[in-house]
Amino acid sequence: MLEWAVVVILAAVLLAWAYRLRRRPENAWMPRELRRATLAYAEQLFKAPSRVMLTAKVDRTYRDRSGILILVELKTRRLDRPYLSDVIELSAQRVAIMRQTGEPVAMHGYVVVQSRPGHRTSHRVALLTEDEVDGLIVRWEAIVGGHAQPRRSGALRLCRGCGFAGNCANVNS
Ligand code: SF4
Repeated sequence: MLEWAVVVILAAVLLAWAYRLRRRPENAWMPRELRRATLAYAEQLFKAPSRVMLTAKVDRTYRDRSGILILVELKTRRLDRPYLSDVIELSAQRVAIMRQTGEPVAMHGYVVVQSRPGHRTSHRVALLTEDEVDGLIVRWEAIVGGHAQPRRSGALRLCRGCGFAGNCANVNS
């Protein structure tokens, strides 16, 4: 009799667990600090003149209760992790928004990775400063102008899709 009671309780627990999983709310991925924030911009392009025109399209930007904007970038990829390229992308978005609108943007953002259907995880990342983004623009100009060599990429698959591959000594030497 006792065994049956245990089996029934276990079955009930498993059913409740499965029900909770099915009912996982749409925004379960959302970091706590964004749950009370409002959506400020979605799929919007920002442009800011600098040495070159800095153009960045944001996925989503939320405004927290103190008025600070927080950037979110959505990615669909197999590995559930953020990359340095995500940090650079979000940092460029931050600078473009600040320079175009004058609004304050947080020094951190979130990379939300969808690694399988219906499953998203948010990763908090620290962003680059304005000076660091400007430094990357200067370096990009030098590489495009042939005055500097790019550093070897750690991931060869990135070289396959790179527009500089034809002139890059790292892949042609
Ligand atoms: S081809 Fe050269 S510039 Fe392009 S990703 Fe590879 S190492 Fe970098």
